[in-house]
Amino acid sequence: MVRIHELKDVGPKTATALLSLGIGTALDLLQTFPFRYEDLRFATPTSQVKIGEGEQNFVGTVISVNERRVRDLEIVDARITDDHGMLTAKWIGRRRYILGRLHAGMRIFVRGRYEAQKIGAPALNVTQWRVLGDGEEYRGALVPIYRASKEITTRKIHNVITRNFQTLLGLVGDDPLPPALAKELGYPSLPDAYSQVHAPDSPESAARARERFVFAEFLTMALAAELRRRQREHEHDAQMMPGSDTLLAEFEASLPFALTNAQRRVIGELWADQARDIPMNRMVQGDVGSGKTLVAAAAIVLAARNGLQAALMAPTEVLAAQHASKLAPLLLPLGITVEAVFGSQGAKSRSAATQRIASGEASLAVGTHALLTDGVDFARLGLVIIDEQHRFGVAQRAKLRSKGGSPHTLHMTATPIPRTLAQTYNADLDISTIDELPPGRTPIETYVVRLSRMDRIERFIRANVARGQQAYIVAPAIEESDAGLSSAIEVAERLSTKTLADLRVGLLHGKLNAKEKDAVMQRFASGDLDVLVATTVIEVGIDVANASVMVVLDAQRFGLAQLHQLRGRVGRGAAKSYCLLVPADDAEDSVRLAVLERTIDGFEIAEEDLALRGPGEFAGTAQSGTSGLRFGDLRDDIAIYKRAKSAAIGILAEDPTLARSSNSGLRNAVEATPSAQGLLTSS
Ligand code: ADP
Ligand code: MG
Repeated sequence: MVRIHELKDVGPKTATALLSLGIGTALDLLQTFPFRYEDLRFATPTSQVKIGEGEQNFVGTVISVNERRVRDLEIVDARITDDHGMLTAKWIGRRRYILGRLHAGMRIFVRGRYEAQKIGAPALNVTQWRVLGDGEEYRGALVPIYRASKEITTRKIHNVITRNFQTLLGLVGDDPLPPALAKELGYPSLPDAYSQVHAPDSPESAARARERFVFAEFLTMALAAELRRRQREHEHDAQMMPGSDTLLAEFEASLPFALTNAQRRVIGELWADQARDIPMNRMVQGDVGSGKTLVAAAAIVLAARNGLQAALMAPTEVLAAQHASKLAPLLLPLGITVEAVFGSQGAKSRSAATQRIASGEASLAVGTHALLTDGVDFARLGLVIIDEQHRFGVAQRAKLRSKGGSPHTLHMTATPIPRTLAQTYNADLDISTIDELPPGRTPIETYVVRLSRMDRIERFIRANVARGQQAYIVAPAIEESDAGLSSAIEVAERLSTKTLADLRVGLLHGKLNAKEKDAVMQRFASGDLDVLVATTVIEVGIDVANASVMVVLDAQRFGLAQLHQLRGRVGRGAAKSYCLLVPADDAEDSVRLAVLERTIDGFEIAEEDLALRGPGEFAGTAQSGTSGLRFGDLRDDIAIYKRAKSAAIGILAEDPTLARSSNSGLRNAVEATPSAQGLLTSS
């Protein structure tokens, strides 16, 4: 491995600056791609200059140079002419330096934006310029622009790459793309692709070259996922849990309401998976309030009727407790017993619980990661349910699975994955979607309200409380801070002593310990509090049917998907519910928030969030490790992903273990994927 400071033109300072950009090795440097190019190839005739376009290039002879002052600014103007006409170029600052180098009669290259001026004719605001030598014909390049920093410029990064290009190329391993495939797709060779990315001949060849890397990356990812799926399907070591129409009818008869069509369909999908000896790996996604708990209950019922236990893990104790209390009444009529295991539990009740799990007496164990501690053994674990899985680490998941051979695994999430992203997960994770809300709900009304109308908001809360309802107020910060965000402590203080002093106001935030949190939630749930001021600890899953108002302060600070989650805390009972999104008065973001006024469809909101904020927020949901992509972007490159995925299926059809020599580069790439470790060596 060539280390970065061993490269030409890289001293300790540059090495440190590169490192802080995440460029730690020489290969990293080569694989750091520009995010855009500046096109300096062509000079525009001055007669064709246009106001307000992007930056434009001109080459001409300087006729005159003048200086002037506008308030504190020192400005140099130069008149420039070419065969076609004339324009004024303008430099701001660095007067002495510019005047020392710029003289009438010389030929120069200038680049900048041509803009209208407050006083006088439009001028070119110069961002780059260069004096041309005697008789030098102007030749510009397509200049790559890299993500840079205060410590290192894009130009320096480009220079280091150019100076060391051959050395860097020598570090590149095998081409992951099989030669025939690269040829078929019309991609340049691997060295040419690197060269066209860092020093392209044309924008088209740069794009083509980049696509080669994106395609190879997606192909590797799709192969790894497909191999993982095949291995899972190959194992045949899961417990078979056949169901029947009779059992489904029995389950439905025990419920106080009829299943929705979506619930029935998803239960069918789960039961079909659970009936096989191939371990299920399925995610159920459904909007808040779509009735996921019931679907989970159906999976548990099937396991129990087949003599197998289930484990359900939630990210917090509050949520785990809530699951337990929602599941128990659904399961007890069918004779299925629920046991909760918590970190905060007393030693005695804990050991009683773990004993009933170990003996098999309890059919369902509910808990947080405490379920993973070594004290908890299962008699016959057949099903693992993970709620809001992205809050669990991969290692934790693996550990839970290890407690019971190859249990069927069910992930549940209320954060809908945008359809576009969901396609990329499909390879290893099957997805079921509950796309229908139970009947009889009045939709939540949502309004964006400015902070300066807080008095009206408080009046609104008071009116709802007077009707016997309850309200949440969410603030982004716990305590007062420099950031100037609303703080839950402060808001609770103000409301309970001043504006809502006659109401019962509670406070919930992440710095309270589990006992204190539980106590506050209990009081709110039982109606002993009218208003709950909270941080986003209440985001996921909390269910108080009597709460009908959700107020979110500093709403501009939250993603749309997260706001949608918060909104889902109300609208769970019979009363009409409201969500008031309150951006700070100076926030310029109300257009984005208006999406929530318009729709209650979590999928549509997720798509909007994806478009506005990028896939980062969803990346955590990825089973297949789609985060950490080096070249590709799942939002922009989805078409390339689809092509790569079908190429992956085609390759595996002909060469299921990637044993052919033409696939050796691909094989290496797949083996280097952390989530695919050992998949090829074992087969
Ligand atoms: P989620 O977990 O998806 O947010 P829940 O499972 O908590 O939703 O269900 C939300 C509410 O809807 C619960 O009060 C539940 O009892 C009710 N519910 C679920 N399914 C149905 C149904 N088919 N018909 C009527 N109400 C339902
Ligand atoms: Mg739920």
